[in-house]
Formats: sequence, C-alpha cells, structure tokens
Amino acid sequence: MMDKLKQAFDRLRATSNAAAAAIAEVNALCGNLVDDASANIVTVYLPTSGWGQGAENLNWAEAWRYILDPIAECARWADVERGVYAEWIETIGTPLCRGTTRAGTPCRNFVGRGQQPIEEWMQHHRIDFCAAHKPPPDATGNL
Ligand SMILES: [Zn+2]
Repeated sequence: MMDKLKQAFDRLRATSNAAAAAIAEVNALCGNLVDDASANIVTVYLPTSGWGQGAENLNWAEAWRYILDPIAECARWADVERGVYAEWIETIGTPLCRGTTRAGTPCRNFVGRGQQPIEEWMQHHRIDFCAAHKPPPDATGNL
C-alpha cells in the first residue's frame, strides 16, 4: 500500500513545483511518511518479554500488520507461535496444570504465580501438575 502511495505522490510531484511543494509540506507534517515507509510512526507498549514492558516502535508496514492482527504481530516479536502468545495473554502469564478434569477438559488450576515472562511461562504451562493432578509417588517413593 505504501509503495503505491509513494508512486502516486511521485507522479503528482512531477506535475508541478506547486505539487512538489505541497508534498514536501505533507512530509514535514507527517514525519516523512510519504518518502520513508520505514520511518517509525507509532510506539506501542506490550508485554513482549514481561508484563508492562516491551516498547515497540512500528513503521508503516509493521503498524499495518499490527492493525490487521495484533496477536500475530506480538507473537512475531516474541518469537513464538500465535496460539502460544494468545494463551499466554489469556492466562495473564499464569501457567496452568497439565492434568485433565473428570469431564475431560484441561485443568484450570494454577501451577505458578501470574504475570510470568512468556519464556518462563512456557517452561511450566501445561507441563507441571497442580496438587490435585500430581501423580502419586511409585512404590519406591520416587516421583
Ligand atoms: Zn490440575
């Protein structure tokens, strides 16, 4: 989209000095958006590595992707799958039990504190057991 916009402005710029001056004015007002698609246009603050942290400066292309699918774009920054990132947000960074309820649904008990950074959360979420689902020790007393 930005390439086409730039091409359109280039054609317009070629028509007259007045058009070129007007485009220069637009660029000045909008942080050179027309001529520099890589310019950062917005900063978003997201829990990319830990809650309340992670400022990301977005250029036009990134801002556009973010608008279309914020979760997918955040997952890309965090370098994890979209579904993993979405679940981390949904659980507010609290790892959930690996066990299954009698009804056959995944256990919703916590197995750690909340608001964990995603790297830490991934080491426990659906991996550790809650007290109710922890397997009993075997005959030797080992877990
Ligand atoms: Zn459980």
